[in-house]
Amino acid sequence: MENKKLAIFGGDPIRKDKIFYGRQCIEDDDIQAVDAVLKSPYITCGPKVFELEQKLSQYVGAKHAVVCSNGTAALHCACLAAGIGPGDEVITTPLTFAASANCILYCGAKPVFADIDPVTYNIDPISIRTHITPKTKAVVAVDFTGQVVKIKEIRDICDEFDLVFIEDAAHSIGTKYDGECVGSLADMTCFSFHPVKTITSGEGGAITTNDDGYYNKLVLAHTHGITHDEAMMEEAPHEGIWYYEQIALGFNYRMTDFQAALLLSQLNKLERFKKRRQEIVERYNEAFKNLDGIIVQQEISESDTCRHLYIIRLDYNKLTCTRREFFDAMSAENVQCQIHYVPVYWFPYYKHLGYELGLCPKAEEIYKGILSIPLYPLLSDGDVEDVICAVTKIVTFYKNPNMTL
Ligand SMILES: *Cc1c(COP(=O)(O)O)cnc(C)c1O
Repeated sequence: MENKKLAIFGGDPIRKDKIFYGRQCIEDDDIQAVDAVLKSPYITCGPKVFELEQKLSQYVGAKHAVVCSNGTAALHCACLAAGIGPGDEVITTPLTFAASANCILYCGAKPVFADIDPVTYNIDPISIRTHITPKTKAVVAVDFTGQVVKIKEIRDICDEFDLVFIEDAAHSIGTKYDGECVGSLADMTCFSFHPVKTITSGEGGAITTNDDGYYNKLVLAHTHGITHDEAMMEEAPHEGIWYYEQIALGFNYRMTDFQAALLLSQLNKLERFKKRRQEIVERYNEAFKNLDGIIVQQEISESDTCRHLYIIRLDYNKLTCTRREFFDAMSAENVQCQIHYVPVYWFPYYKHLGYELGLCPKAEEIYKGILSIPLYPLLSDGDVEDVICAVTKIVTFYKNPNMTL
């Protein structure tokens, strides 16, 4: 009870040391795997990249995987493989990391923002429908926080209007939809292995697909548009095994072999990480279920989610604080939150392109109340209880406007 005074007003913080919203989990065997590659002849484009592509495609149940330098590169390659170019429109969500929309701009096409479902925070298929024009070429749907989007509804729309379905699964490796793994559901699925994501290679990304045509284009896009495969060459003059041809304009988006070794080692731990993330999510859900002032994200029954982020939403009908005050109060208790995300088209760069505030009212409304609290496998049960205590302490304080400082 004596700990009621908020740390931001001079009370004792809930924790002595700070915890952050996300953090990688690297163990000794991960380090040994990297070490072994660094001592081997190939440190890039060697056997580990090949093995990773095999294991990743097997894991998600897709025919092909192409690994690349980061998740943004994965999205760019997917857009290129989809044939997106100047004059095209591509529909995506505003409540995402900027890369989900930037990849559309990289191709000279126009991102069109559909609104979200205010309960799940994922893109709303009904809103996708209302944004389709004759120029629409594809949908980039983001599995926000790790929960899979409404696959069936989006698939139906893409089939009806002949659109390419690209899934931004940067948050959702390990998630299943009706028992099927994310990575096998859309035309192309893009992953990120940045350290805050569920498994990491430092920087890293991948695209999975069941389509041979997309696969060939993805391979070209991530390595200069160069092929060593005679079947794909235009001229193929049988010069010798050293001969290769550039047949498209691609990029150098390759992953190194030591990163691939790290990710292979991490992939073996994905189920364990998922289980721990799910335990923490359940504990948070339980704690916040009846906490007046906090609204939690809802999930569709089809999603068996490996959650990347845990988001709490402030109920401004119940609380007297701003999000900024809540966020700063959490920091003072030594629980460092983050905000995911500022709606993409609010950024100056997008404003200069002509996007206006108010485009997606539901996403904007949700954005104003959300913050992400710590979620990662290394959190101990005690850490989780500290986070819950900090949230509860601050909610209790700001729920009661008569309480004095
Ligand atoms: C992290 C992230 C990306 C980009 O991945 P990088 O590996 O950082 O390039 C793309 N989309 C979403 C939704 C992300 O969270």
